Parts: sequence; structure tokens; C-alpha cells
Amino acid sequence: MVKLTFYGGVREIGGNKVFLEDDRGKLFLDFGYPYSKYRVFYEEYLKPRPGSGLLDLLVMGLLPQLEGIYRTDLETENLWQQFRRADHYRKLEDIDGILLTHAHLDHSGHVSFLREDIPVYATATTAFIAKAMQDSGRPAFDQQVCYFTARVEECLEGWKQGAYVTSSSADLQRRFCVADRLELNEEAEKFWGKATRKKKLDSQLLEDINKCSFNLRCFPVDHSIPGACSWGIETSSGWVVYSGDLRIHGRHGKRTESMIKEAAQLHPRALILEGTNVDKTSNVAEQEVYENGFKAINDARGLVIADFSPRDVNRLLTFLQVARDTKRKLTILPKDAYLLKTMRLLESEIPDIALEDAIAIYQKTTASKSPDSWLRNIYQDYSSKIVLASDVSSNQGDFILCFSFWDLNELPSIQPRAGSLYVFSSSEPHNEEQEMDFWRLHHWLERFQLRAFGLPVYRNGTWEVPEEERGLHASGHACGPDLLRIAREIQPEVLIPVHSEKPEFYLGNLRNSGINIILPTEYGMVEI
Ligand SMILES: [Zn+2]
Repeated sequence: MVKLTFYGGVREIGGNKVFLEDDRGKLFLDFGYPYSKYRVFYEEYLKPRPGSGLLDLLVMGLLPQLEGIYRTDLETENLWQQFRRADHYRKLEDIDGILLTHAHLDHSGHVSFLREDIPVYATATTAFIAKAMQDSGRPAFDQQVCYFTARVEECLEGWKQGAYVTSSSADLQRRFCVADRLELNEEAEKFWGKATRKKKLDSQLLEDINKCSFNLRCFPVDHSIPGACSWGIETSSGWVVYSGDLRIHGRHGKRTESMIKEAAQLHPRALILEGTNVDKTSNVAEQEVYENGFKAINDARGLVIADFSPRDVNRLLTFLQVARDTKRKLTILPKDAYLLKTMRLLESEIPDIALEDAIAIYQKTTASKSPDSWLRNIYQDYSSKIVLASDVSSNQGDFILCFSFWDLNELPSIQPRAGSLYVFSSSEPHNEEQEMDFWRLHHWLERFQLRAFGLPVYRNGTWEVPEEERGLHASGHACGPDLLRIAREIQPEVLIPVHSEKPEFYLGNLRNSGINIILPTEYGMVEI
């Protein structure tokens, strides 16, 4: 008998935390950051207090009340006493690990709070992206997927109360067990073991996945971030397949097709399947993004700003091709350059920035006095590639600037010519806060008289891309008909939808398929 408990990802997109246990062992399937649950209580300036350790997260229901799995340095004295009588409290010991499907924080973010000796199973690419994102990101308390600084309780002299503050000890790296490419070249090994902030890194070697007490299969799939995979777990009830996030229509759709075939051959007892885009009836392919992007940018005269998620390396490569074909330079931010450089350590088809004529790197106008070493290295390694606001300003027709909303405050230094183009290649707003940002984005464009292309506008109560400007964003998720095909072809005995606001889609559409659909409930246990 296998027991599955759903601590996240139920009727929400993201925050997946599925606990799998049987007499062979215990695993979590992803341990994601539940953005929508945070938004209920918190916003940018009201956040869980890092100085309170785990208290805020446990009391506010953002982390499951599971004693024994979290970092001990975040456990304040007698922390667990108050939770021991709570409905969903459990003491867990001897967890085999976390099966991570990809490096998007809604799947990986809460790994930050887990004990460092709990192994994280992933592809090498996911492990490397997680480190690159953390190295180059803001040093936030809840975004320490790859390594963390232990906190210690400290009380200032004369103060009545102490707090949990960052200690001065070296950063501790988590144990990553990779399903592929354990052999790393020297440079890749150096990247993994190197600290990039001011602290030392107590780094750990990558291990393989064979130590797990379950027999595991890792299936590469296509998603909007490299390194994504689905997992197969051989349990005492048969194989359980966990999809993670996936699509068939992307550049590497063949990987997902292979996963479907191989998963079907396992005749799984259960398939835990995502359902982000169950409402969509068709997809935009990455090739269409290229074609539409090329058309829009080829006709443009002044500056072009392209707004897309650079962690979607496929999208970055699509715009790199547009840049080559329109004789412009794709101008990326240092953190994007760092990600590309990291990806190239594992995948030789990723272009070498130093040799790629069509790439430049934008140095922001207010540079830091003492930058972290990753940033210093980017500026040193690619010094001939660095462009400043003044360079962009004086040759506006030469660039495609990869900016998102968060970088628009550079525009006063660049002063785009009226009629410059803002190409939007991302998804529409999903919540009120994002809607506010979209209003602000529109105001920025008006202020600088930029022409938008592919940008959702507010009409009749919803945000929609104008009809004639569609096809600039290929979603990372399969559409409804593709999801149904995945379910039918894998043909599990039981299908459990997660990562979806409308899981009943599967109930309605797979009625006579021979597949038993079980809709999970939050904290509910499904026995199979
Ligand atoms: Zn994802």
C-alpha cells in the first residue's frame, strides 16, 4: 500500500509538495513555494520574519507542520510544542529525499527550509540552474535551494529578546543526487564547489540516485526551463509516475513524447499529472514565437525591448536568432549571462557568449561598489561585450534589450526614441498584484512613447493580447487536449491531478477511459 499526502499543489498552480510513503521509504515529490498562499497574507513589504525562524511559516500555514524535516537552525526553542496537537501535525523521520522536477521556485523554493542532509534528487541541469539562480539572485531567506547560511540566536546586550540572525560560518550546500551526468568537467566542478558571495561554501559532491531506497526513473521532459524531468517511483503498489510541469509543443517536445512511451511501458499504478492549462485548447509553438518576433522586430526602427523570462533559455535562444536575423545585438543582463555560461558547462549546444557576435551584456547604471564575485567575473570574462546606457542610447537601432518590468527604471538613462518597440513575450497577469504591475508597465510605455507588441491590454474586465498581436508566447505547459492524450497514452490505473485550478477537467474528459480519477484534497491522504 502506498500513501500519498498532498501538502501543496491542490487547486493551486504551484507549491507542489506530495509526500509518498510505503514500507520501502518516504519521499517528497517537489517542495515548492506556494505563491498563492503567501499572497493571502503577505506582499512585498509584509513578509514572514526571517528572525522568527520557522514560526511564521508554520503558524500561517505556508509550511506543513511536519517535525523532523526542517533545518534545525530555524527551529526556535520549544517551537514544536504548540503544533503537536494540531490536525495535520506529524513527526517524520528518515526521509529518503526530495524528487525535484525542475528549478522553478513554485516546485523547488521551500527546499530552502529542509535539513541539509536530506538529499535532493534532480537532473544535473536543474541542480546547476538552482545554484546559478541563487548565486545571482537576492540573498533572500526563503530562496536558498542550493546552499544556506545557518542562523544563530543572538541577543544584543541590554535587549530583552534575541532573534535568529545569519551566522558567520561557511554556507552549507545541500546533498544533490543527480540522475544524469555525474561526470563533470573541471570547470563544471569548479562552478559547483565555488562560493560566489563573500562567504565560503562548504560544498558537497554530486552523488548519484542509486542510494535511494526506491528504484527511480528520471524522464527528461520539455518545459519552460531547461533540465525539467518527470519521475517514476517503483513502490510496493507498482509504479507511480509524477509529471512535474511539461509540454509537447516546445522545442524539446520529443523528450516529453519519449517520457509518455516509457512511462506507459511501466503500466503505472498511478500518474500524478499537472493541469495548469486545462482551459487552453491549443498551443503556440516556439517556432511561431520566432516568426512573429522576427516580423515585429524586422520592421522596427528605433530601440527594441524584448520582455521574456530569461530562465526560459529556449526563449532566449529564439530571440538570439531574431537578433542575428535582424542584425541587432541581443543585450542581456549579467544574471542572464551567468545562467547561459552555467548552462554551457553542461550543454555544448548553448552558445559561448565570448564567441557570439549577436550577444551583448548590459551594465546597469547604478553599479555596486563591491559586487559579488559572480558579477565581477561576468564583467571581466566578457569585458568586450559590456554595453552601457549611453551606448544603447546613441545607437538605438542596433539593440534588442532584454528587459522586464523590473528593469524599466533604466529607461531615464537610455531615453528611447519615440516609437521604439516593446515586445512582450510572456504570460498575462494572473493576480491583482501582477495587474497593478501591468498598469505601471503601460504607464512606462506611454511616458516614453514606446509602441507595445504582444502586450495584454485591459478590455471588458480581462487582460488580453490584441487578436492581431498573438503568438509571441509559447507556454511552458501542455494545453487541455495534449494533457488528455498524455493521460490516455500512459493509461495509469489511477490519475491524480495537481498544479491545477480546475482538476475536475480530468473527471469530465476521461469518464470512459478506464482511468480512475482521484481528486486530492489539501493535507488529505490517498491510499493506492
Ligand atoms: Zn514550472
